[in-house]
Amino acid sequence: MKPYWSETLRGLSPYVPGEQPQQASLLKLNTNENPYAPSPAALAAIRAAADGDLRLYPDPDGSALKRAVAAAHGLDTANVFLGNGSDEVLAHAFLGLLKHPRPLLFPDITYSFYPVYCALYDIAYEEIPLDGEFRVRLGDYARPNGGIVLPNPNAPTGIALSRAELRSLLAGNPDSVVLVDEAYVDFGAESAVPLIGEFANLLVTQTLSKSRALAGLRVGYALGAPDLIGALETVKGCFNSYPLDRLALAGATAALADNAWFADTCGKIAASRDWLTAELGKLGFEVLPSRANFVFARHATRSGASLQQALRARNVLVRRFDRPRIADFLRITVGTQAECETLLASLREIGLD
Ligand SMILES: *Cc1c(COP(=O)(O)O)cnc(C)c1O
Repeated sequence: MKPYWSETLRGLSPYVPGEQPQQASLLKLNTNENPYAPSPAALAAIRAAADGDLRLYPDPDGSALKRAVAAAHGLDTANVFLGNGSDEVLAHAFLGLLKHPRPLLFPDITYSFYPVYCALYDIAYEEIPLDGEFRVRLGDYARPNGGIVLPNPNAPTGIALSRAELRSLLAGNPDSVVLVDEAYVDFGAESAVPLIGEFANLLVTQTLSKSRALAGLRVGYALGAPDLIGALETVKGCFNSYPLDRLALAGATAALADNAWFADTCGKIAASRDWLTAELGKLGFEVLPSRANFVFARHATRSGASLQQALRARNVLVRRFDRPRIADFLRITVGTQAECETLLASLREIGLD
């Protein structure tokens, strides 16, 4: 009984984020955080911004950060929307651009926040099944819709579509928005951003949480034609004028300027991912071909639940989704090379070699 709750809230089941344990001794491979620290320049900028000016509200438009994002992608500031993490950007897009009489389409196995936004905003949707190899079958999206949302690479499979495939999806779907959620694109997939000039209905979201190692700062953004950005600005203006605080604006602007740090850490993670994929294969795992900073893997003989539990007993956290088709898969975040080796040593202890 929740007598004070609104009718809207009563039927909702919130998204459940991965565990954030208070115990420091655990190896956290469960929430796709970056194992490396953020750019030292970003940390210095955040420290420098921690001064008496915190008494003042931040720039509601985030102009300096918008210029940095636009410059990083060869776009104009009118193509950029900023949010408090890309989850907030996605929420605004669901309300402002993806809520229509026709159903929103997304894969049956994908980021589990999408159905949560649909429930919150009362958006009709259809889940389009991935094929037997857990790939997006683009032909299945050629049906009447009020929008399409896809992560690329997909989560939690890690499998990416090419830019050519996305172009054909966009060309065949001119009447509704196609939102490409590029939370993991920097680890080795092709970005759809170069298609923005070509397609007025393309919205791309990115985040500083994964590839820029700033999950704790909460900065994400959307890129698209000014009309789409205008819709997001309208939702934002009806919701929270200051989603990004002064520290976030300063840190994110500096992080985007440090491309050497970015390229070095993303390169290390991609190399460890490919090595980990091969090593897990030797231990009897089927590993989907990942272009992200995680791998999605199931063992030939051991259940996902038993492996997750056995790893937990050895202080290693991984994520599992208790859902049809994928309950035996573990989603394992790619750590440092040493952390990947610790994971493999734990799996050998469990008796998988
Ligand atoms: C992590 C993630 C996000 C959101 O991340 P923020 O930290 O809110 O920027 C969005 N989409 C997918 C698929 C993700 O995995």
